[in-house]
Formats: sequence, C-alpha cells, structure tokens
Amino acid sequence: MSSILKFFKSDNKNTTSVSNVSIDVDSDKSSVGSPPIKRRKPEMSQSDADRNIFPNDIANFCRKQLNDIEKYEVLVHNWIPDVDFKFPTSGKRNLKFQHSWLRSFVWLVYSAAEDGAYCRYCVSFGSNSVGKGGHQNTNLLVQTAFQDWKKALEKFREHQKKKYHLDAMEDGQNFKLIYEKRKSDVISEIDIGR
Ligand SMILES: [Zn+2]
Repeated sequence: MSSILKFFKSDNKNTTSVSNVSIDVDSDKSSVGSPPIKRRKPEMSQSDADRNIFPNDIANFCRKQLNDIEKYEVLVHNWIPDVDFKFPTSGKRNLKFQHSWLRSFVWLVYSAAEDGAYCRYCVSFGSNSVGKGGHQNTNLLVQTAFQDWKKALEKFREHQKKKYHLDAMEDGQNFKLIYEKRKSDVISEIDIGR
C-alpha cells in the first residue's frame, strides 16, 4: 500500500519535472519570438534592393539586349502580383495600378520594383523599332515604366493598336512557339545549336 503511494508520488514528481521542461520550452519560444532584430542599413541603392526582392520583375529585363532564355522569361514567367496585392498609391488623387487591367490587357505587366507598367512583348521584341524615333511616348511601356494611372486605360488602348506593338507581339508569339518546340526537341536531339 505504501509502495503504491510512493509510486504515485514519484509519478507526480515526474509530471512536475515534465511540466518544468515544457515551461522551459515556452520561455525559449517567447525569447525566439521577440528578438530585437537590428535593421542593417542597406548598402545597396533602393532600386537594387527592390530588384533583389522581385527577381522576376520585368524591370530587370528592360533596356538591355535579352538572350532567348530571358525573352522567354519575360513572355511567360515574369512576376504577377496576387489579386490582393497592395499597389502603392500616387499623386493627389491616390490613384494606383488596377489588378483588373492585367486581365484586360494580356501584354500588360506590372513592375513592383518601379511601381510602373510595361508591355511584355515590346520589352522583349520591340527594341529594334521602338525608341529610335526618340519620341517619349513610344518609350513608355517599353523602355520607361508607365505610371500615369489616370490615363492608363486610354494609353493602354492606344498602345495595343501601334504597329510596333503588333509586330512585337507577332514576333513574341512566334518565338514562344519555336522556343517551346526546341525545348521539347532537346530530349531527342543533341545538336540543337544548329
Ligand atoms: Zn507593346
């Protein structure tokens, strides 16, 4: 009888020590949860930092000669904001980029790094014909981020009627077909460079 009591007593002790352990774990947790993380002063410029946060951002592919892999990335794999993405507001009217525009204009891409809009086809296939005229408006959406949200719909509709845009879109769609065909041929063909 007394040995049974002893047994229970020792069992109680075990429970106590177990709960002590769990208290230790809890206190560990709380110390992990509230460490004062020191913000290191960024050594990079702000735009560089942004580009690291958004590696697939279209702004990383603008204003330079792209190879085929990069062109394909721009056409197919560029970063797309979530539906609940908080677009920053700008100007007196607090206007901002509208997510629905991405559905209305298949060529439209939003750059979070620059808070601006680009055309994926003109960025990757429009460089030869666009910009040589030196007219600022043809650079918008192509080499310069479009940010005038008040005029966005009007400008987007204008852009998609331009010949240089239609040419770039045709080139881009042809390129995509050839590129994907070539990728599937890699399995059977070794000499794809020719
Ligand atoms: Zn375009």
